[in-house]
Amino acid sequence: MSGLVDQAEAPDPLAAMAKARSNAFKDGLAPDTGKPGFAVYLHWPFCAAKCPYCDFNSHVRHEGIDQQAYIDAFRAEIAAMRKLSGPQVVTSIFFGGGTPSLMHPETVAAILDAVHETWVVPEGIEITLEANPSSVEAGRFRGYRAAGVNRVSMGVQALNDRDLKRLGRLHDRAEALRAIGLARDIFPRMSFDLIYARPDQTPHAWEAELKEAISLAADHLSLYQLTIEEGTPFYGLHKAGKLIVPDGDLSAELYELTQSVCEAHGLPAYEVSNHARPGAESRHNLTYWRYGDYAGIGPGAHGRLTTSAGKIATATERTPETWLTSVADRGHGMSESEVLGTSEQADELLLMGLRLREGVDLGRWQALSGHRLDAERVEFLIDHGMIETMGKDRIRCTPQGMLVLDAVVADLAT
Ligand code: SF4
Repeated sequence: MSGLVDQAEAPDPLAAMAKARSNAFKDGLAPDTGKPGFAVYLHWPFCAAKCPYCDFNSHVRHEGIDQQAYIDAFRAEIAAMRKLSGPQVVTSIFFGGGTPSLMHPETVAAILDAVHETWVVPEGIEITLEANPSSVEAGRFRGYRAAGVNRVSMGVQALNDRDLKRLGRLHDRAEALRAIGLARDIFPRMSFDLIYARPDQTPHAWEAELKEAISLAADHLSLYQLTIEEGTPFYGLHKAGKLIVPDGDLSAELYELTQSVCEAHGLPAYEVSNHARPGAESRHNLTYWRYGDYAGIGPGAHGRLTTSAGKIATATERTPETWLTSVADRGHGMSESEVLGTSEQADELLLMGLRLREGVDLGRWQALSGHRLDAERVEFLIDHGMIETMGKDRIRCTPQGMLVLDAVVADLAT
């Protein structure tokens, strides 16, 4: 009958988007189009012990954890986030923590089922789980793979026993090597983290360790400088002069060494601390840095969602038990949900985008801020070798600018 559209024939925009996104890895990394996708972040807030440098939202519970209670609460909060986000095609899923490798594989599978039931999840999208290399946790790798995880990101942190001990890690070098080998066998994609600028670390020792890491790595490494965070045991020790870390000059030398060694071995930095062979970049983290939307679920998770009221910033209760109670009472654990003004969004876009080697789209920034970047400030930063333009449309930090990223962002922000 004329005038009626056959529903079976009608194009479904979500299905078309899902098909395009399921091809994401076959086609390599898509360029930044200003539409970075929709990511789902799930925070597991428990660790077996607290590392003395860590200020993440992680908690130790010696009495054990009722994982079924957390599955039920994750399900409820996922449904609450769906009400805010509307229908979406998911571009990546990430289990972060804390230590998600303390989850039973059945818990991971149940939470992934809930995500699949809530949004469209194209086949083959990146699903990452952060893991620690202790043998017990590595023993669960096959279970995570069966649950649908296709990428693991491991907190190796150092490749020698002395430094692992100093960092308060529960694994040793032998366990780290075994876990790396196992992860490479089981998961299509894997990455591991190392911390550098450690006490007593020389450039020579770091270079040797980094080269060994590259020889062990698949196609992605996260390399973070040790930072002394207020409120941690390391902060107290550092203040008392009992923990000496490399000074600014040595830290800069170690950073530059990291860049040159990784670059020479085909793992250039695509973000200030993240290195990958081209095409192996973390799609999930790129969604943050390209300033896309993400649902942050679980205790202490942050999110950014585009809603009918505008782009909102969400945060949930940090203490696991408070979050559980809140979800039981209200259906979600959100403690903050704030509409972001366009100038705040412009600042966030800049803060995130300048971390990336691909830089920031100036047109997108101008559309949000309502004006152009201050020409004098831009010229000053270019003259001092801190930023550079990429054609007419993008700017990025130079390697020198990356060393003082916060100052560069503060100088340019609205
Ligand atoms: S395992 Fe990771 S999240 Fe847990 S305390 Fe150590 S550094 Fe923090």
